Order: sequence, then structure tokens, then C-alpha cells
Amino acid sequence: MTETSKANLPAATVNGDMLQRARENLRLACDKLNIHPDVFEELKWPRETLAATLLIRMDDGSRRAFQAWRCRYNDRRGPTKGGVRFHPRVTLDEIETLAFWMTFKCAVANLPFGGGKGGVCVDTKTLSPTELERVSRAYIEAFASFIGPDRDILAPDMYTNGIVIAWMSDEYSAITGHPSPTAITGKPIAFGGTEGRTDATARGGYYTLRYLESSLGLDPDKSSVAIQGFGNVGYHCAKLLHADGYRIVAVSDSRGGVYDPDGLDPLSVMEHKHKTGSVVGAKGHGKTRKISNAELLELECDVLVPAALEGQITTENCDRVQARVVLELANGPVSAEADARLTANGQIIVPDILANSGGVTVSHLEWVQNRSGYYWERSRVRDALRSTMETETQAIWTLHNELGVSMREAAYVHGLRRIAEAVEARGTQA
Ligand code: GLU
Repeated sequence: MTETSKANLPAATVNGDMLQRARENLRLACDKLNIHPDVFEELKWPRETLAATLLIRMDDGSRRAFQAWRCRYNDRRGPTKGGVRFHPRVTLDEIETLAFWMTFKCAVANLPFGGGKGGVCVDTKTLSPTELERVSRAYIEAFASFIGPDRDILAPDMYTNGIVIAWMSDEYSAITGHPSPTAITGKPIAFGGTEGRTDATARGGYYTLRYLESSLGLDPDKSSVAIQGFGNVGYHCAKLLHADGYRIVAVSDSRGGVYDPDGLDPLSVMEHKHKTGSVVGAKGHGKTRKISNAELLELECDVLVPAALEGQITTENCDRVQARVVLELANGPVSAEADARLTANGQIIVPDILANSGGVTVSHLEWVQNRSGYYWERSRVRDALRSTMETETQAIWTLHNELGVSMREAAYVHGLRRIAEAVEARGTQA
């Protein structure tokens, strides 16, 4: 790896120790619960990971190779479940860590799934639509025998939108020889998807935040929110909170951000992004100014929502984070050390495995609908999502108070209890 490409990677990825760091949360949770040591030993490692090289014919006739992976981390509670990430800096360590997090996320949401994750090392912004289609279909061709509706179920993640998912689902059906919508969730509605999946991740986090509002001392009409990332998750989160009276003071994307203490209107920021490709330059209600992604994290606000990449708040910048509440809609945006410092400072971090579990929760409902062939109305999906988020948020908040630990530790304890039960139920003799 060259120095230049190294410089673009989050610190944990450079060291290749993301999974090692993630295990620290597992160890803490194991220490809190009196569980069999076999459980820790099993959960330290991914059950299996398959690597493949996708050889793609480019539009100019040349051939390019892309590294791809699929990890099935643990399937004690059911088939593994998780998205596929297309990103130029994705690594094996990152995929396995994300699959580890999915294992806990599915357990926290009480879904009958284990955790998995996949990825392709590719910059989708440099591909034509036909090249992107070839990469998407090649991914399924490479992993067709590894995945499946009762084995490992795929879903969207960064840069894998509805059309990518539709190509993948179509390819899987072509390989199996019959329509097989159940192996991949997050499909467009016309292609076997469910109502309510598009905004599910943001909506789940929104239900959690609103449920905790009084415990956190938040008043929507007096509270300000800064959101890092204005993709599907960041945008919908901004829209939902704005509609309830929260003041959205800053948003950003990969090119930078905008800050307006008088507030921004998410719809008009999105219109600007559609026209120009970025939120930068969008106008709010007052004196809007440009800020960097790093500045956004340090703004004076009540709620900070990291909704982009992992590794954003570390020991480098955590002492300058002013938000009282951090709602982790991204996976792993706050490092373990930063989490400890913020918690010691009285700031509340609503952890990713709870806050962003709305996406996979509605993926589960899509899977259920595909299996039964009976499709639900949007209100039914939303009611089920709200009920799951409120039940699990309440359980984690109670554990957080009873055990006197951070919400992240409480969430790991909550998930681990369920996973450990599934491991122990099968006996520890073999
Ligand atoms: N990629 C999403 C996540 O990280 C959704 C996964 C899914 O729906 O399976 O939670």
C-alpha cells in the first residue's frame, strides 16, 4: 500500500485492527454477564469469509479486477444478514468488523438473524451505469453458492442503492432459475421490496431519539441538530427531525458542509444537492456559511448525528465535541476510546447497533413478506418498526441505568444475552 492511499484510510483500518477493537466491546459485555467462555471464543472470530476477484470488462474494452468479499460472521440466531458495501477503500478487516456489528445489531433488534457483510473495493463514481451493472451482477455470480434466503441474506449499504440491489436480485434469480426475491432485501417495491424500507434506518434512529427525549432532556422546539452525511440516512433523519420542530443547523457530504445557526430546510438543501452534486452552497434561514466535515463534528449543538463513515470521532477530536447527545446512524463512527471519554464527560452516545438497526429491522419485514407472498401497507411496517425500536431502546436504557454503564455497553450486554442463549441452548460439550 502506498503512503498516499494509506493517508485516506481511517486510522483503525490502516492498522488492520478494527475487528480487534470491536472485540473489546464483546469482552466488556462478557465480563458483565456470567456467560460460558466458549461464547467469547466463538464470537471472537468470523465463522467464514469468502474472497473473490471480480474481472470486469470496461466500456473501453479494457479489463479491470476488483477485490470482493462476503463474510458470514455468526449464524447461531438464524441466517446471516447484512449489506454489501461498494467503496474504494473497503478492506477485509472492515467487512469482518461490520459483520461482527451486524451480529449484535440483529440480536439487539431481536431478529431471527445472525450477522454478515459484503463489499467490493470500487469507486462507483468512476463507473458508467453499464460498468456498475456488470460489477453488481459479477458480485452475485461470485458469491451465489455462499448466499441464499436461508443462509445469508444481502441488503444495501454504502453506494449500493435500489438499482444495484435490483440487478443483484435479478442475477440471483437467473442463477437459481426462478424468481428468488428472498435472498436480497432493500429491493425496489416493484421488484418485491417492502413499503417503508427507504427511510427505515433514519426512521428507526428517529423513533429511538424521540422515545428517549424526556430522559435526555431534549425539547424539539429548543434543540439543534448537526448531521454528518446527507445520503439516504442523513437526509431522511434531517427531514423527520425538522418536521417535529428540531432546528437542523448543519449538514455535510463528502465535499464539505453548510452551517446556519438559524436553521436549514432539508428539502431545499436536497434540491441544491440534486442540482449541484453537493450540499455546499445551499442557503438556510440566516447567514449560511461553508464548513468542513471536521468542523461540523465540533459545532455547538444538542444532537450530533454521524451518518457517514466509521472512525469520525476519535481521541484526536472527541474533547472538542460539544453535542450532549450523539446518535450513531453510521456504523462505528465513534472509537472506543472516544466513547469512554465522552461518556465520562456526561455526553450520551446512542450506539449504532441500536440507533441504526431500523434498516435491518425493515429488511426482516421484507424477508417475511417475500416468504409469505403477502405484502403489507406502509403504516403496518412503520408501526412494527416503531414497536421494535421502542421496546429495545427501553430495555437498553434500563440496563444503562441499572448497570451504570454506557449505552453502548448496555446494548452489547443486551445483544450478547440473546446470542449466548442461542449458543448455550445447543450445549457446550462438542
Ligand atoms: N446495511 C445496513 C446496516 O448496516 C442494512 C443491513 C440489512 O438490511 O441487512 O444495517
